Amino acid sequence: MPIPTELVGSLPRPMKLQEAYQALDDGKIDFAELQKEQDAAAEDSIRRLEQTGETYVTDGEQRESSFATYPITDTLAGTGLADNLAGDGQFFAIFDDGHHRQLPRLTGGPFRYKTFASEFVEKNKAIASGPVKQAVIAPSMLMLLYPLEGEIEGYSRQQFLDDLCDEVEKDIRQCFAAGAERVSIDFTEGRLANKNDSRNPWTNKDMLQEFIDLNNRVIDRFSPEERKNIGIHTCPGGDNDSVHSADVPYEKLLSKMFQLNAGYFLIQCASEQDKETVYRLCGQYSREDANGVPQVCFIGVINPLNPEVETAEQVRDALVAASKHIPVERLGATDDCGFSPFSRDEKPKHGSPDFARDVAMQKITARVEGAKMASQELGV
Ligand SMILES: [Zn+2]
Repeated sequence: MPIPTELVGSLPRPMKLQEAYQALDDGKIDFAELQKEQDAAAEDSIRRLEQTGETYVTDGEQRESSFATYPITDTLAGTGLADNLAGDGQFFAIFDDGHHRQLPRLTGGPFRYKTFASEFVEKNKAIASGPVKQAVIAPSMLMLLYPLEGEIEGYSRQQFLDDLCDEVEKDIRQCFAAGAERVSIDFTEGRLANKNDSRNPWTNKDMLQEFIDLNNRVIDRFSPEERKNIGIHTCPGGDNDSVHSADVPYEKLLSKMFQLNAGYFLIQCASEQDKETVYRLCGQYSREDANGVPQVCFIGVINPLNPEVETAEQVRDALVAASKHIPVERLGATDDCGFSPFSRDEKPKHGSPDFARDVAMQKITARVEGAKMASQELGV
């Protein structure tokens, strides 16, 4: 079988759409008017992705406030926040360029999603002519909605985590039911868990194992047949062309991440200094049999934070090099991250989000082509 390729999920939102999000926050338009812009950008994303030859398409997450907050708020500024949440939660991440992203804070129970990703899948299925994928958020990210210390009166941490796992399970099941062929779980907090950033207390608490165990509580509710199509995405962040945890030794994560009983992994690598070590660690720690399913390693061969477009030959060479460490039947190709995980992303290194959209399509085309070339060279 040729080397499979898959995108993470997001694409830069056109500036017109980013302005519409702002206009909703400013009370200048209503939600229906924002949705009109979201739908237009989603349709454009799907059409253009289909032209690249991408196997599974997404709407580029044009309808989502972010990869992490789509279930609980309509915009990053908190317009349309779900019940029992306030805007002033923990930092999710402080990025290398100094900007940060903050999560809402849970104020009481019960915790419930207001939006499930299957809503997007349904709309995308109606547009796409081929298979659709959807990215969802991990419980390990949303557990940070609960205050780091102490308990919320009347809503224990235990009860919250039970409710959270149920919501995430429902999110994934509904995506499959709506027709998604692949569902990948965003796990960018994995590498960040070992950051030990004094400005961001949760990164000092050695939470990686807790994250993995919590995520497996959900993943283990699925059969091996289902888990073949449930993925995990890891990266050091990718927002406003900046990262949050590229300085954390990758082995701390990669030596544990494959404990997750998922069938495939979308693994940032193109922006690593030492790619060979990443290939080796993936080969070493990924499992041939994760409770009934082989773990396929999709190696990042495209850097969405850099406007320079990779060539198909570079992609080919990276995959051929990776195949020396990872069995080729468990090797795939991906991008290091979504191209814009947050709805407000000006893509400063690219000059504009509209230009960055064009660049993203060129990069994806190079990945698809490079994977074909590598498959030929490796005879698969
Ligand atoms: Zn990412």
